[in-house]
Formats: sequence, C-alpha cells, structure tokens
Amino acid sequence: MSFEYAPAPESRAVVDIASSYGLFIDGTFVEPEGGKTFKTVNPATEEVLADVAEAGEPDVDRAVAAARRAYDKVWSRMPGSERAKYLYRIARLLAERSREFAVLETLDNGKPIRESRDVDVPTAAAHFFYYAGWADKLEHAGFGPNPRPHGVAAQVIPWNFPLLMLAWKIAPALAAGNTVVLKPAETTPLSALLFADLLRQAELPPGVVNIVTGARETGSLLVNHPGVDKIAFTGSTPVGKRIAAEVAGSRKSLTLELGGKAANIVFDDAPIDQAVEGIVNGIYFNQGQVCCAGSRLLVQESIADELVDRLKRRLSTLRVGDPMDKNTDVGAINSAQQLERITTLSQAGEDEGATRWTAACELPEKGYWFAPTVFTDVHPAHRIAREEIFGPVLSVLTFRTPAEAVQKANNTPYGLSAGIWTEKGSRILWMADQLRAGVVWANTFNRFDPTSPFGGYKESGYGREGGRHGLAAYLAEGSAL
Ligand code: NAD
Repeated sequence: MSFEYAPAPESRAVVDIASSYGLFIDGTFVEPEGGKTFKTVNPATEEVLADVAEAGEPDVDRAVAAARRAYDKVWSRMPGSERAKYLYRIARLLAERSREFAVLETLDNGKPIRESRDVDVPTAAAHFFYYAGWADKLEHAGFGPNPRPHGVAAQVIPWNFPLLMLAWKIAPALAAGNTVVLKPAETTPLSALLFADLLRQAELPPGVVNIVTGARETGSLLVNHPGVDKIAFTGSTPVGKRIAAEVAGSRKSLTLELGGKAANIVFDDAPIDQAVEGIVNGIYFNQGQVCCAGSRLLVQESIADELVDRLKRRLSTLRVGDPMDKNTDVGAINSAQQLERITTLSQAGEDEGATRWTAACELPEKGYWFAPTVFTDVHPAHRIAREEIFGPVLSVLTFRTPAEAVQKANNTPYGLSAGIWTEKGSRILWMADQLRAGVVWANTFNRFDPTSPFGGYKESGYGREGGRHGLAAYLAEGSAL
C-alpha cells in the first residue's frame, strides 16, 4: 500500500511584498537617480513579485559616500562591545522574523521552504550571533595587538543563498569595524531589502550598511569605485577573475569565493545507506545550485552498481515541485537562464556518450524546473565531469585505489570542497591531507557552521569566510592565521 502526501503549503501571508523597492542608502529607502528598475520573479510560477531599483553611478557614489561618513564619524569610533550589541540585536531580530524571511526567500529564489526555514535563515542568524562575540575581542584574535578595519567594504553576492551569503559578508565586516555597501544578485534582491528593514528596526546607525540593487553593471560600478577599500565577492569564476584583474595594482584588498566541482568519494567500506543520503544532500540540496555541491561522485568500482541502484531508488522518492509545500525536497531552478545552462550541459553529457537517468516525476507547467538527474559512464574528459553545472545533475565516475581517487578528485581547476565516505579513520586523515580542497567533509556533506572557515583553492578563489579566519579578510593588519 502506498501513502499519498497531503499538500502542506506554507502561508504566503506572513510576508508583505511591496510592489516596488528603492535603494537602501544612509538608513532610508531612496529612488534611483536614473529612475531605472527591473523585475524580480518567483521562479516556481514566473509571477512578478516586485519592481526593484537599478542603481547607477550616482547611486553607487551616494552609497559609498554614506558608508564612508558612517565609518569616519560613527562605526570606526565605536568600541567593539557597542558594535557587538548591534550584531546581537540583528541576530535576535532575524531569529524572531525567521518565518517571514524564509517565506520571502523561497518565493524569490525557488528553494524549498523546508531548506530556507531550516538552513538558510537559522544559519544566517547564527553568523551574526557568532561574529557579535568577536567584535570586542579582535586584539586577542591572533592578528596583532591592534588590528584595524579596512574602511568601506564593497560586497557582491550571488542568488543561490541570498540571505545566507549576505550574512557571511556583513557579519564579519561589521564585527571588524568596517562599513558596507552590498549588492545582492539581480534575481534575488528581496531578502536583502527585507534585511534593510530589519536594520532600521535594529536602529543600526545610518550608512553603516547600504544596499544597492542592480545587475552586473551595478556590481562593476561598486567594485571599481575609488572610495572602496575592500572587496568581497562571491559568484562565478569568470566574474571573479575579471574583478581580480580590474583591482590589480590598486590598494583594494580582495577576497573571492568562486565556483566548484567537488568530488564526493565513496569507498567500499562506507555505510552505504548513509552515503546515499550524503550524495543526495550533496547534489540535490538547493537544486544543486551550491558552489560546494558534490557534483562528481567517485565511487569504488566494487560497489558502484549497488550504490547507483540504491541512489536511483532513493531519488525516485524525492518530491519535486511547489517550493512553498513543506513536503517538497527539490524546488525550482532560480532563473530561465540557469535552467538553460543546466539543460545545455546535460545535453552535452548525452552527446559525449554518458548515460543519462532522470527520476520519474511530474514537473509543474509554469516555472523553471529540472528533474534530479544522474549520469553514469562518465569520462573525466566529459564536460559534465569538468564544468560546474550548478544544477541537480550528478556525474558518476569510478576508481579502484585511494591513490586513484585522489588523482581524479584533484583533477579539476577548482578546489572548494570534497567528501569522503569510509569507516576507516586513518584513510579519512590521509585523504584529507591529499585533497586540494578548502573544506573536506568526512561521512557527511554540505554542513555549514559559522565557527568553521570556508573557502577555496585554485580557481575556487582565495580568502576564507567563517570562523576566526573569516575576520582576517576584514582587518588591515590581519595576516597571521
Ligand atoms: P555571477 O558571477 O554571475 O554573479 C554573482 C554576482 O556578481 C551577482 O550579484 C552579479 O550581479 C554580480 N556581477 C556580475 N558581473 C559582475 C561584474 N563584472 N562586476 C561586479 N559584479 C558582477 O554568479 P551567479 O551566477 O550569480 O552565482 C553562481 C556562481 O556563484 C557559481 O559559480 C557558484 O559556484 C558561485 N558561488 C560561490 C560560492 C562560494 O562561497 N565559493 C557561494 C555561492 C555561489
């Protein structure tokens, strides 16, 4: 007998979405000087959610000037213990308003409400709680006796974890004494704008955090602005490289969190059902739109058939559909453009000779959807084994020995994360030592904690976010880790 799930929709009424939004500069919402706007849509329904201001040059100037004034007059003069109080207040308000933020994030991004409710929003609040604790202890953090903030930080973030990426950026910047101009991604600006409302509620002094919305031109104006002292960018590797070239030779300090093509490595002694759950979490969480997603499964040859069979069985039970339904496991792809990229790369997988399997599921007619997909018979030279797909698509490769697993795992220009599944502790330590990846998970995957540094090797970027290491990026004298 099979049981059916009854729909369990979250209420949309818990959040008020305005029909239009201005820019958050100097503590208030203002209209963009050029009067330009763009629309943000719900990717699950294609419904327009709001008109959002597009910041041009005079607006970015205004935001950077407001951040500079707030830095000179207020924030850099405030004792760390006072800054901490604001950070704690922000964290508490995020926790109090968590349902509102979760619903808005799901509507604007397409991720399942279960994930925005249980991961994005609580982890964002946890970042503010964590960095609040550092604000008055910077001289004891191992960065010299008198670590100084940079000044004005320009922060540009992507659309896959809009609120969480905002928290990763703003919390350490403020704790270290910097002021901020942040640009959210053009397809997901709404949670940053709700956060601006929360900052007013927290009575954060005007200009300490400014939010300018817009697309790539706005981002470029911001990172190239002469009034900016530090740039923190999270996004794709091509844009990260471009920004690195643009700021080369300037006095600006830069950290980059870029793409990934992580190996999730399963040995023959691994607890297999647990590994299957880890693989699912590794590549189907957030529709695979995760920089550290375990997009390459490396499985020991002797258990490959059994593991792939069990994985397919498990994938057939995933519920794909309405992100606002609390039973949904896999939601919508964030944009038509991203769906197009996933579709193109998956087609390349088929064309190059890999075997495609897709979970049987009914996809809604409207919106941007891609069913969980697995490719077997993947060759390391295939595009699906080399390029970041950023979607719910897994490429399965096999290996025979630990040395071969390491070689294949490291055979990528990226180096953000990796996973190891084995009962043997010594093997975990040996592998972790050999893998060129900033984060290595053992018998788990996609675990995030504000106390733990996160960041890449090679083309996955440089600098670390999270933990004590995350403070270094926001301190001018920070070097000794
Ligand atoms: P993207 O690089 O296209 O855009 C990221 C942000 O940069 C957006 O806000 C965008 O408007 C802005 N931007 C675009 N061009 C710019 C320019 N020339 N100058 C300044 N800003 C510019 O990336 P995306 O498609 O939004 O995000 C997906 C990518 O982000 C993936 O590659 C993913 O791996 C990466 N990512 C990395 C991490 C990490 O921590 N390493 C986390 C999340 C996402």
